[in-house]
Amino acid sequence: MTSEYKKPLPRPAMNPEVSKPFWEGTKKHELWMQYCLNHNGHFFYPREVCPICWAPQDRLVWQKVSGKGRVFSYTTVFQPAIPAFAEEAPYIHALIEVDEGARIIGNVIDIPQEDVAANKLEVNQRVEAVFEDVTDEWTLVKWKPIGEG
Ligand SMILES: [Zn+2]
Repeated sequence: MTSEYKKPLPRPAMNPEVSKPFWEGTKKHELWMQYCLNHNGHFFYPREVCPICWAPQDRLVWQKVSGKGRVFSYTTVFQPAIPAFAEEAPYIHALIEVDEGARIIGNVIDIPQEDVAANKLEVNQRVEAVFEDVTDEWTLVKWKPIGEG
């Protein structure tokens, strides 16, 4: 953990209470997502109403999920829009479909830099969540490739 993290930190918008269980989970190095009791499925990002069936908040619960999934799609960022990320470029920004079915955006790390630059990541690559404690308050989720299974 460092106090010298120079990049932008999350700023939960609207009602920060809605996403609080997600961020409490990341601090424990766990991935939590909302589950809708009406249509029996997970979704992400955190919301007060189910985006699939419009179930109200009293039909939504938080569940710890596996933290494993697959690359649904990705892009390689060569020129970050935010200068603070320039030193990491090129890097992979991906849409991850977790095994529970919801999709979440995050960076895929632990890939050799020459493979990142050559777009060698494969769609459907298995990944698992890794947690980066960037400040005392914030732990971010990233993803790293794993084998099948
Ligand atoms: Zn629903």
